[in-house]
Order: sequence, then structure tokens, then C-alpha cells
Amino acid sequence: MSKNDFELKNYALLKSLGFKCGLEIHQQLNTKNKLFCHCPVGLTGAPHDAEILRHMRPTLSELGEYDGTALMEFKTKKNVIYRLYRERTCTYEMDDTPPFLVNQEAVDIAIKLALLFNCKIVDELHVIRKQYLDGSIPTGFQRTMIIGIDGWVPFKGKKIEISQVNLEEEACREVSDIGHCIVFATDRLSIPLVEIITGADMKDPGEAAEVCRLLGNAMKVTGLVRRGIGTVRQDVNVSITGGDRVEIKGVHKVGNIPDLTASEAYRQQGLLELKNIFREHFPKPGEIPYDEAVFTLNFSGTANQIGRRLESDHPLKVVGLKLPRMVDIISYMLQPGRDFGFELSGRVRVIACIDTRPNLFFYSQREKYDIPEELWNNVVDELKPERGDDIVLICGPSEDITTAINEIKIRISELASGVPNETRQDIKDGTTDFERILPGPDRMYPDTDHPPVRIAGERVDALRTAVGEPLWEKHRRWSELGLHEEQVKALSLSRFADLFDRLAKECSDKEYSGYLKKMAHICTGLFVGLRRRGYDLTKCDTLHLSKIIKGSFNGNWSYNKLKQILILAADGIIDTEASEMTLTDDEFNAAWKSSLTEFAGRNSNNSKDKFRRYFAGKLLARYTDVRDILTRIDARLASTSSLS
Ligand SMILES: [Zn+2]
Repeated sequence: MSKNDFELKNYALLKSLGFKCGLEIHQQLNTKNKLFCHCPVGLTGAPHDAEILRHMRPTLSELGEYDGTALMEFKTKKNVIYRLYRERTCTYEMDDTPPFLVNQEAVDIAIKLALLFNCKIVDELHVIRKQYLDGSIPTGFQRTMIIGIDGWVPFKGKKIEISQVNLEEEACREVSDIGHCIVFATDRLSIPLVEIITGADMKDPGEAAEVCRLLGNAMKVTGLVRRGIGTVRQDVNVSITGGDRVEIKGVHKVGNIPDLTASEAYRQQGLLELKNIFREHFPKPGEIPYDEAVFTLNFSGTANQIGRRLESDHPLKVVGLKLPRMVDIISYMLQPGRDFGFELSGRVRVIACIDTRPNLFFYSQREKYDIPEELWNNVVDELKPERGDDIVLICGPSEDITTAINEIKIRISELASGVPNETRQDIKDGTTDFERILPGPDRMYPDTDHPPVRIAGERVDALRTAVGEPLWEKHRRWSELGLHEEQVKALSLSRFADLFDRLAKECSDKEYSGYLKKMAHICTGLFVGLRRRGYDLTKCDTLHLSKIIKGSFNGNWSYNKLKQILILAADGIIDTEASEMTLTDDEFNAAWKSSLTEFAGRNSNNSKDKFRRYFAGKLLARYTDVRDILTRIDARLASTSSLS
């Protein structure tokens, strides 16, 4: 494998590296109210009614230690602005009043989902605080509670462990994060969600995506969870042999999981190789001879990438840092298109808040930037790099540059230990960027505001009977009926899966057995096609739809004819009880009226003859007695003087 060539689809190679992946799925619940107050659930499009500015500060944990993440967030010195909405937020969310008792509707849903995943349900709920200092929760912690443990789901002949199902409150919605100012909308804050944590049981990137989809869909089809953009988010944990658990936060699409996890596995492999190179270069990492110099005057008044930045309203500085014996390290490719220099850039972006990229300018990569050679010559004259040395230029506020240089040195020293413990973010191109230091285990502590809540055995038993058939059981059943994999997948997501089950049951006799695949196609492809054309069949009665579909088999209708009839059903033109397929006078009149309106809307030439053909076509798509229909149409047309 060449350095730039990452075989993202080579799952055999990834398995040989010891690829392991676990998932954390965060799914919002379909409740009326938030988890610890009575504010309604749902996002608002309205402008905010007020703003609050806060700063985050780390506090000592019970054990008398600072959490690494907390310290990192403190270093960023952010102004945190919360947007408040009269209808969606109260004093609880802003940490001005204690929580109300936990929303029992949310507890019931979480128990049902934990049971769906075969978990043991806890007999007492304990609210725990999980420290969150990125500002996304104004209290600085998230309230969370364990609902179920030790569960599993079947997947391709093995069991995927569901180690924990938690019920917790949502964080804020991030509106923007620029420099030292981050803005959050509070409407999403405290919406109840379940966190589903799996074991590290997925052994290749494809499996990781498939299991993620299975768990997500299994929850979706219960109707107990919220649907739509942003209502579900997944974090993916990846490690390889000799590497360490790295968490990729907020993966945007399940379809991105394979490439992201493969990239991460190769990144860890690269970091393990870099560890050896680094140790060879620096047997004593504490004694790296860094050197730095200020170049602000050289760049001010010049028209290039750095010079133009110096024209900003704030006083900025340009500093060069010599990186001895690091040319091969900086350019070492770790992910597709991303080298170790990018790792440094990520730390500086997040921690020093120098976030316009490129935020680091490497001498060894100078052909990438718009900086003239003579300016680089000044830098070289001053810092005097030797063969194998690199130089990085940083431009920003003086204090941020100090933070940046410190972070660059920290990240380089971490090379000695291989893969650092960190969370990374999906940057939507199949690669990841640094997000934050992975939180330590001591970020959880008991919540003293909320009493423990007993979960009675009878309550769990009652909820158990209310848990429907799990998705994987449906999959098994549908596969046994002879549906192929694609149809099973499509049915799992179809709102008409119940209709299919009804048809399959009613048509279980021999006479219909050849129609199962056709039924599945009607309930998926055909209905989706009609919905895209604006015909919504979800409001039609399932019994009625099943009669139409069975009628189509009995009458040996063409596919097109069935489609026409379903369109009439969606438009409400066919009486929902008209199962016998005979045309009553009322139906005739209703169809006449609606067809006339439609016809007038589509045709400027409203000749009787043209309408006769149009109307007959509509009726004949639905009723089979041609002679009867034409006789009635002609009689009506004869008694009508004008169509308008
Ligand atoms: Zn509230």
C-alpha cells in the first residue's frame, strides 16, 4: 500500500488489523413534554425572545481531579450565548430552578425500547450527572439514567451486545461557532432521548453500518421515537490492535460509517507507525529543540494569505516555530488526503480557536499557499532549519498563538504513545477531524436534585406485552415467505408493512401464493411512486386497500389499471366501502363532479366528446362493466347542456 492509497473497501485487510467497532445511537423520543420540565417538545422556526451570555469553568470532581475535557474547554475561553424561546424554554433549562420529577411517558418509552433490545430493566432509576463543558448544556452537565443493561440483538447468526440503554436529556442545538464565540439555540435542550450502546462487536466497516441501520429502523417502526432530520445521531467507536478507542461523534449519515471507520482504522495504523519513527528521532521526547521567532513585521503590508489576515480589526501576530527533524512526520499520510500536519491543525482550530483554514503554514508544503518565496527566505534566515527540519507559521491573536504553540508541542509529544484518546468529528468527506479530548471516567456523579424512582415489576410486565414484534422477527418472517433481501429492506421502512402482513395472511391459501412478491412490490415501490406524485395512501383504510389489491389479483388487472384505481382511492373518489366494484349512483355523481373540475383545470377545449373519453377512462380504470358505464355517461351527457 502506498502512503496515499487507502484501501477503504478492503475489509479483509482491516480485519487483519484487528478492526473493532461499537455504536452509540442517540434517538429522540416521541413525547409531548421535555424530560425534566413541562416545556413542549419540538423545534421552533420562530426568532428567539432573549439571549444569555455565560462562561464555562471547570470544577474539581468528587475525586479532587480536573477532567481532561473540562480543562480543554476552559483553555478555549469561549463566550457562550444561549438563545431563549418563550414557548420552548423555562428556568429549568437555564439552571435557575431544580428539575421536576422525570417525565414518566419518557420512562415508559425507554423501558419499551430496552425490552425490544432484550435488556434487563433496572429496578430503580438513579439520575446521574454527566459533565459537559462545551457549553451545549447550560448547567455544565447532562442528566442521564440507566434504564436497561445486558441486552442483545440478533445479526447474521450472531448476537450483538446491547450493553446499556440510557434515558437522557438532549443538549442545545449549535447555531454557530466562530473564534471565541459559540451560539446555541435552547429549543432542543432537554428533549428526552435514549442512548443505545452496543459492544465493540462489529468486525468490519460494512457490519457497523448495517447494525446501525438495523437498530435505528427497529426503533423507527415502533412509532415511539421522533422522526426527521436531527432526531437521531450516532457516535461510532473504532479501534485496532495496539490502537485505542477513538470516538467519532455525530456521524451525519449511516451511509458514511463504512468509509469513516475504515479511515479511522488506517489513521490508527499510521499513528502506530509514526510512534516508531518518532521514538527513533527523539529517544528523549522532553528535549526536542524547538525554536521560535516573530515575523509580524515581515508580513504586514504584504498582499498574500498571511498579509491579508493581518489587516483585520484585531491586532494579530505572526509566529514561526521550528520543528526539528519533523519533515517526514508532518507529511505522513494518516487518512485519505490528510497528513499529520492536519492533526496539528485540528488541535489548533479547536483549542486555540484559530479556525480559518489553513491555520498552519508548513515550510515543507509551501507550494500549497499563496506566500512568496522571498518571505519564506526571511523565515529561513531567522530560524535556520537544517535538513529534515520543518517550520510552521501561525497567524492569530497573541494569546491564541501561545495556546496554539503549546498545543502543537503537546500533540507532537503524544506521538510517543501512538493513538491519543480523543473524540473526532465527521467532516463529511469520509475523513475525521479532532473534536475534543476523550472525557475521563470521573465525569459522572450522582444528581442530588432528583430522588431515585422505583420501577415495579408489574409495570415492566405490562410494558413488555405492549412491545410489538421486533424488526428482526419481521425480517425473518418475510424472508421465509420468499421475499428477496431488497424487498425485506424496503418493507421494513414502508408505512404499509401492516397492509402487507394483512394481505399475506388473508392470501395464505394456494390460490394467491404466487402473488406475495407482487404484494410486497405494491406495498413498497408502487405506493412510494404514488406518494412522490402527490397521492397519499396513508389516509386510506387498510381494509379497503387490501380489498382493492385482492380485487386486482382476482380481476387480473394490468399494473397500470391498479395504479389508476389507487389514485382514485387516494383522492377519496372511491367510496371506502365499495368493495364489490359496482358503481352506485352516488359514486357516479361524486366521480362526475370531481372529474369535471379536474378536466376543466387541464383542458381549455371542453368539448363533450373529449370529456366523455376522459371520464370513461377514469371510471373504467375502476369498474369493469364497460357497457353499463358508457350507457350512464351518455345519458348524463345528453341531459347536460354545457360542461362549464
Ligand atoms: Zn423547560
